[in-house]
Amino acid sequence: MTNTIQGLKPKLLKVKLSDFLEHLKLPDEALNFIFKAKEVAEKQGKFLYLAGGEVRDFLLKRPSYDVDLVIEGSAADFLEELRRNFVFEVLFSSPFLTYKILLPQTGFVVDLVTARGEVYEDVAALPKVYQATFKEDVLRRDFTINALIYGLSPPYPEMIVDLVSGISDLERSLLRPLHLRSFVDDPTRVFRGIRYKVRFKLNYAEEFYQALYQAIEAQAFLKLSASRLRNELLLFVKREGISSLPRLLSECQGFELFSHSGLEVDGEKLVEGLKTLKEFVEILSPREVEDAFLLILAGFKRENLKRLFFPDSVIDRLIKLYEEFRTNLKALLTLPLIERVLKFDKIDKATLIALSLYLPELKEEIERYLFVYSKVYPELKGGDLKELGIKPGKQLGEILKKLREEKLEGRLKTKDEEIAFVKSLLYSVS
Ligand code: ATP
Repeated sequence: MTNTIQGLKPKLLKVKLSDFLEHLKLPDEALNFIFKAKEVAEKQGKFLYLAGGEVRDFLLKRPSYDVDLVIEGSAADFLEELRRNFVFEVLFSSPFLTYKILLPQTGFVVDLVTARGEVYEDVAALPKVYQATFKEDVLRRDFTINALIYGLSPPYPEMIVDLVSGISDLERSLLRPLHLRSFVDDPTRVFRGIRYKVRFKLNYAEEFYQALYQAIEAQAFLKLSASRLRNELLLFVKREGISSLPRLLSECQGFELFSHSGLEVDGEKLVEGLKTLKEFVEILSPREVEDAFLLILAGFKRENLKRLFFPDSVIDRLIKLYEEFRTNLKALLTLPLIERVLKFDKIDKATLIALSLYLPELKEEIERYLFVYSKVYPELKGGDLKELGIKPGKQLGEILKKLREEKLEGRLKTKDEEIAFVKSLLYSVS
């Protein structure tokens, strides 16, 4: 292997540093960090380069917002020297020879990694990593289009270095893994590949299918840990956004990736679920969108939830809730409005959305709750009631509940009406 690696002839493309950096949308502090890092690498005689997405995005003429720097040789020595010339903080370093560097003025975070090779000892398990040459570092990557690097220091200063025909694959819009065991080693690459395919409208190269077939044969998706599967699926939402979800998920369905991964997913429900998610997206935080997406995918199935790395206590709570609602649907729908609202108040939005999908009888009610009722509160708060002479305790709680009920039923509009209502309650009690 080493011989073949050494023998690889890179294709080189000269690109001026200023042109390359222009497409990286970086604050000056980050640009200055790169200039200093380049100087230190030159002084130490080390090869420093930018790798992965930023080089691909440069060739695609797309902006890029990340800095993934790679140094051949010891990153620790390199950082020590750099520290003498630039103010930064190492947020953390990992056993994978990677460093996260915080630039204090802007809060910008740079990734710096040591050029490394990887050995995969088990299907779908995390690799052992070791310090290596840049060629090995290139060849450990997922796809040819992500294996391009941009040299900042000799031997390839201000050049895109292509060892794997990544440039030609980009030109032909082809997504090609670097070798056929790639997805056996790391099945998350298939999910990554689907993201790139959808994002850049690529086609799968023949080798993609062959590598996928090998991974399925080796049951690599089943062997992938629950936390990695969850993280990878979450990147669909975090990196690509919910408008891409239908395409991403239909690619997964096309390869039956969910069932290969040990998930039992109902395709029709999934399509409907994505529509539901879109309806609600404006009232959800990014975190709630992610939670709702995973719950829609899992349904209220214990094994699915386990596979998606939900903690046992959360799974128990979700399934109990689902069963309670499923078996008491009629009773629930005939409860007085205030009681229904108080029940829903205790459930997070993501779970409510999933319930509305898997118990369609509740859909309208949950919609009304999320869009309207959950926002209806009296203007008077506990403090106001105390000022009206009500002591903290049971009575105050009951009055607040009554106020909310009147508000929900549309019988109170203004704050004055609320005050009058509270006074009438107090009067009738005394
Ligand atoms: P994005 O635009 O989604 O950020 P990216 O290519 O920058 O794309 P990252 O997840 O930031 O993606 O990873 C940076 C680089 O690290 C990739 O371009 C790829 O070369 C390499 N890489 C990341 N994950 C893997 C993996 N699972 N297997 C092999 N190489 C990987």
